[in-house]
Amino acid sequence: MLRHLVKAVFGIVREATGYARTALVERDVTTRDRRRAEAVLGFLLHMGPIYIKLGQVAATRSDLLGPDWVNTLRTLQDRTPHMSRSDTRRAVERELGGPLESVFPTFDLEPVASASVAQVHVAELPDGRKVAVKLVKDGVPGEIEKSLRAMSTLLRLVDRCSSRARQLDVSRRFDEVARLLRPQADMEQEARQQQRIGDNFSGHAYVRVPAVQHELVTPRMLVMEFVDGIPGKDADRVGISRRQLAQRMQDTVNTMLYLHGLSHGDPHPGNVMFTPAGEIVLLDFGVTAELSEDEKWGLSSFYYACIRKEWQVATERFTRFFVHAGPELIARRAEYDTDMTRTLTFHFDISSNRWSTVSYFNDVNEVLRKYSSRYTANFTKVELVFLSGEGFASQVDPEIDIWANARKFTDRYSPYMSAEVEARFQDVFSQQMPTSLQLRERAAGVLVAPTHIDRYFFPSVFPVFVHRASGGRVSDFDGNEYLDLCGGYGPHLLGYGHPAVRAALVEGIEGGLVNGMGHPREVELAELLVDAFPAAERALLCNSGTEAVLFAVRMCRGQRRRHKVAKFEGHYHGFSDQGMVSSWFRFAGDRDAPEPIAGSLGSDPATVHDTLVLQYGDVAGLDRLREHADDLACVIVEPMPTSVVALNTPFLAALRRACTELGVPLVFDEVVSGFRVAYGGVQVMTGIEPDLTCLGKVIGGGLPCGAVVGRAGLIGMAKSSQDPFSDYENRIFAGGTLSGNSLTCAAGVAVLRHLKAHPELYRQLDDHTRRLAALLSRAAHDRGIACRVKARNSIFSVTFSHNGPELYRDRMTGSNFKATIALAYYMRKHGVYLPELHSFLISAAHTLDDLDEIAHAFAKSLDEMLADHLFVT
Ligand code: PLP
Repeated sequence: MLRHLVKAVFGIVREATGYARTALVERDVTTRDRRRAEAVLGFLLHMGPIYIKLGQVAATRSDLLGPDWVNTLRTLQDRTPHMSRSDTRRAVERELGGPLESVFPTFDLEPVASASVAQVHVAELPDGRKVAVKLVKDGVPGEIEKSLRAMSTLLRLVDRCSSRARQLDVSRRFDEVARLLRPQADMEQEARQQQRIGDNFSGHAYVRVPAVQHELVTPRMLVMEFVDGIPGKDADRVGISRRQLAQRMQDTVNTMLYLHGLSHGDPHPGNVMFTPAGEIVLLDFGVTAELSEDEKWGLSSFYYACIRKEWQVATERFTRFFVHAGPELIARRAEYDTDMTRTLTFHFDISSNRWSTVSYFNDVNEVLRKYSSRYTANFTKVELVFLSGEGFASQVDPEIDIWANARKFTDRYSPYMSAEVEARFQDVFSQQMPTSLQLRERAAGVLVAPTHIDRYFFPSVFPVFVHRASGGRVSDFDGNEYLDLCGGYGPHLLGYGHPAVRAALVEGIEGGLVNGMGHPREVELAELLVDAFPAAERALLCNSGTEAVLFAVRMCRGQRRRHKVAKFEGHYHGFSDQGMVSSWFRFAGDRDAPEPIAGSLGSDPATVHDTLVLQYGDVAGLDRLREHADDLACVIVEPMPTSVVALNTPFLAALRRACTELGVPLVFDEVVSGFRVAYGGVQVMTGIEPDLTCLGKVIGGGLPCGAVVGRAGLIGMAKSSQDPFSDYENRIFAGGTLSGNSLTCAAGVAVLRHLKAHPELYRQLDDHTRRLAALLSRAAHDRGIACRVKARNSIFSVTFSHNGPELYRDRMTGSNFKATIALAYYMRKHGVYLPELHSFLISAAHTLDDLDEIAHAFAKSLDEMLADHLFVT
């Protein structure tokens, strides 16, 4: 370290003398700045790799340095020496542990590129494949460590002596940069990040990440597929327009930040190549930026507020998610708010058509400095990504409207359609279904929403008001008929107004409506339910799926005398506080160790806190179940989660084994899947039996209904012992005025009897599901649209994404919501009713011709959506 400090001092003296000779006579500030920058540049080159790297990173910090500094230091990207041929051979053989030729029959010892830390060679594998070999330069890792330590010591000294340095928090900022730089020479770490980012882009229309040759990766050498691309600075040689290329570049960066939450850390032209067809090849993953679910949410919600010109909200969100508030900010919050709001207004509103990422970040930093505050460490990285990526996009096409282009991402949680598209729909629907639009206005005066519930982001912008519903179709008051794929969100498996159900209802009405007293239909429905599930001995009837879950959880809590509930991320169990924890819309924590988060304002925080959130399909994650078993009342799961339409039988078997071993009751929520995927449900299909099953939807034949079925022991928790004192201590209470009423039970019995008598309906539904899924996938594929259709047993999920989301959090954050929402309206225009942003369902009433009609409407919708620029291309 001492030698290093002497070298540093010598370098400083040498450059300072040169600087003094020329700059002292210089009066002009700009020229003086450039001279200073050149002196520092000379010093960095003199000091070696890590200083060069630091200079490169500093060159991206236009928030800290003026333009002359930035431009001068940028030249470091091209001026880096490489190892001699013999040193290179020695280094490769050291990494391989044998002669170079044993692995690479040909290896060009002259590098094709040389950066501060590593140099890149082209080689060939024995099977003839061409690879790029990235080799860390000799001595660099040691140099990095020594230099970082020496610099850190120096800066701490400076910190002590200079109040200005303390105010700028120089020492701590350096530590942040040092954290970025340390792993630079770790090729194993880089290979892992490259693989992860590559996986995120697998199947993407135009982003490529070279495949890693993992078996040849060592701590100092990374071998990957060789891509013979066009250097990032030569955009002219690419066969698509500069405008499109620039948009692709910006979209690539936004996809990584907003959707994947894992981004290349410095996408400047030196780290990107193009193919002649306009594909973008990302290289060099030494620095990456990773955003938590919370930060992704913060980023979207901040920019969304900016779009809506809600500057106060934007300021609050930005500060909450991305700022370490210093004492000045806390003491003078109102003033800070005014300053930050003014800055945001200026950039997003007043000069948004002259958007400059650099000056935006400069101004934001200025405000933060004024209040002795700073970004969070992660936002520092995000800023670097935006600066490099958007800077690069602007270089490719100086005319690019960065801000307009970003809207695909920034407002993707919203029901926003471009004003033009929305106006067009307004026109179309006021012609097509004027009565529905009138009813929509009337409803707005008295109802929360035209369709009785208003769910954050399942908007009913153009709702259909139904006049009649029959079979697989509904019609409105203006004479339009729609093929219906909503199925009332689940109950209408047989289609609307099935003759068996109608007859049962007529008979039920004639018998008078009975509730709160015994009647045979209730017994009959319970018999059918108990008979359908091998693991069931008793049933308890209620009015909805939500109620069924409430009862099941209460039964388990009562029996186990524990209150904590384990559940799975993205599984919705009705609208209770417990049922909605981490169920939709928002997630928290790591993907393999999610943290509970409330599904709605007004939820009881204790309920949320006392929920253990697991990941469906993650067998290793069941260890967390074991850790918490002693506090758990039960585990509840959607055995076939409908939001992502997945069924993982081995996982369910592992979960069953774990619950049995731990003595924790397992509850299957089959509110959707019950009697839809098979007579019974997923448990009948898989043979995996829960302790309790929650039901709803289909079992009520279209009327409000729910049920819990299971072994007599657990269900018996709701049965009185005829000793009120013992009941209070040992039993749970189950109420519900209309539970098991005669009309609901009559409809339910009719549906279940029909399904039981016609097992062929399930085979038909499966065939139809496969057929429609294939038709939809083909329509998207033929148009080059990234679209995943997941479908099983009459349930469909369509996402516009290059990746098939395995986890619900990926579906929620990884797809083009705007297109999915808009799809519902395009389909409506073409006579198909699709629920907005929701899984959709086919019924037994849909014919083969209906499926063709749906596929045809889908194809027409996609064409129009392409024309309306709803897809990221
Ligand atoms: N469980 C699941 C899996 C659901 O999908 C739903 C509703 O969609 C419920 C429970 C709640 O059922 P309900 O809306 O009848 O209360």
